[in-house]
Amino acid sequence: MFASFDSKTERTAPPVRHRSRVLSLATIVLVFTLVATAIFGFAHVSSQQLTMAELRAHGQRLKTVHQSMVAADGAVLHYLAGEVNALRLHLAEVARLTGGATDILDDLPPIILGIEAGRSAKVLAEELIATWSEAIALASEGRAEAGRTLIATNRTSLVLERIGEEVRRVLLRSDSLLAMHDDRIKVGTLMVLLMQLAAGLLAILGLLYAFRSSVSEADKRAAAVASADRSRVQVARLFEMADVLQSASDHADANAVLKATAADLVPGFSGALYVFNNSRDRLVLSTTWGRAENDGLPETINPTSCWGLKRGKPHLNHGDGSKLCCAHHVGTETTLEIPMIARGEIVGLLQLFASGVSALDRLDHVTGLGSALADGMSLALANMALREKLRNQALRDPLTGLYNRRYMEDCLQRFVRLAERENREVSLIMVDLDHFKRLNDEHGHAFGDQVLRDTALTITGSLRETDIVCRFGGEELVVILPDCPLERAADKAEVLRLRIEELGNTHGAEISASFGVASLPHTSQSVTDLLSAADAALYKAKQGGRNQVAKAPLRPYRLDRYVEETPLLEDDFARAAAE
Ligand code: GH3
Ligand code: MG
Ligand code: MG
Repeated sequence: MFASFDSKTERTAPPVRHRSRVLSLATIVLVFTLVATAIFGFAHVSSQQLTMAELRAHGQRLKTVHQSMVAADGAVLHYLAGEVNALRLHLAEVARLTGGATDILDDLPPIILGIEAGRSAKVLAEELIATWSEAIALASEGRAEAGRTLIATNRTSLVLERIGEEVRRVLLRSDSLLAMHDDRIKVGTLMVLLMQLAAGLLAILGLLYAFRSSVSEADKRAAAVASADRSRVQVARLFEMADVLQSASDHADANAVLKATAADLVPGFSGALYVFNNSRDRLVLSTTWGRAENDGLPETINPTSCWGLKRGKPHLNHGDGSKLCCAHHVGTETTLEIPMIARGEIVGLLQLFASGVSALDRLDHVTGLGSALADGMSLALANMALREKLRNQALRDPLTGLYNRRYMEDCLQRFVRLAERENREVSLIMVDLDHFKRLNDEHGHAFGDQVLRDTALTITGSLRETDIVCRFGGEELVVILPDCPLERAADKAEVLRLRIEELGNTHGAEISASFGVASLPHTSQSVTDLLSAADAALYKAKQGGRNQVAKAPLRPYRLDRYVEETPLLEDDFARAAAE
């Protein structure tokens, strides 16, 4: 019956899902970047270090080769000078140069400077070793001088110097290459560091973002839960209202329930309820709340002047009268007009009022709740109207709209009991149209029906609202007049007689009625007494020539009291005594 009234809380779901997908993807990319950067950095530094190690080893080997060659050359010169032990040193150095598993002479760079330029250093070294070997052989034959001459001729020291220069040049280049690789390692390390830093920073930002997102998610969830709780309470309150309205017996009850519920559900708004009145074809102001009474609201509204009713949905009348505004709108308040429709028929109009700059927004926000309130109330109004209709059908005569005989009897019992208890009077007038049979015969039954209806209208229109007019049967009517003494009832009967007689002018026929008046306690002492006394009086009127009023005789044992209480009615007293 009542749906949720707050539809603005669940619209953020798709963007949140999209954001969390993007966040997951970004996290994966970030982790991948971190791992890739670390691997790449490690590989880069390792390769640079390997190259540097190779360069250093190569330089070390070159130094060793050159040092061995210089030592071997020095040892040869010492041997040629007569130091026999120097030969062992020389042979050891030469063995180091040529005796290894790998040919370390291969490491020697090509000669690119001086007169030996373009020659292989390895070839020069081998020639040097051959010269040393030849000089040692000459010395071992006792011709040391010839050996020294050979050494001098082949300029071994010069060749060594050349090789030394090339080795130094290569070492210098190697140093610069080492510096370059060192720089590369530094740059690589720096890059990795920077990337790691950037990734770390991104990770921190991501975490912050995720944290903020989760906080705002939690806030939204909490708001959604609060809104659901609010809706639950509101729905419970509306069901409670619908339940209580079931027991509302009239509009006053229903209005009280509506006001209490509205104060709970839409606090801070004043309101008004208009109920559709079928006989007047207008909406009649039934109640207001949160505002002073008689504050300018129209007493009735024409349904055709209300846009809410015409469109069949809630309508906002702007306080300044701008936009589409109902003709009945008064004052400067902004008004939400909610049509109340049940079983396809207009049953009323619920209005909520607000003022101030945010009035429109506030009213817009409570439109759902106001509509639920109006729905609950319109069902109650429709049920009440239906109950009223059924009650009327059970209590009223369909032809004249007057109360029926059963209701009259109940009513008379009630009035009589009340009169007895409180020492008051009740009078009863019995009315019978004269020669009604003849009227039917002369003008037709439909004409007779119309005369009956007009007679009923004439009588009800001539009496107080508290008086009860009933159709006793056929063309006989009964009027109950509470708190009315016999004489005044007779006067009223006379007035009715004259007005019924006047009906003849409009219908172009002779119309009249006879009246029998009785009263409690003056002429009767019970309901049955009262009815038979009035009937007897009516008979007397008929006998007296019709179109007249006859009173029932006063009860003898009430005479003293009757005289005391109504000393002016001495005529009655005398007439009653005579009868
Ligand atoms: P009297 O002046 O003595 O009362 O004469 P009367 O003709 O009015 O009385 P009577 O009781 O003889 O006839 C009553 C007539 O009223 C008979 C009946 O046809 C008529 N009548 C009763 N109920 C209705 C009704 O609902 N519609 C119409 N048109 N006539 C009715
Ligand atoms: Mg009759
Ligand atoms: Mg009659």
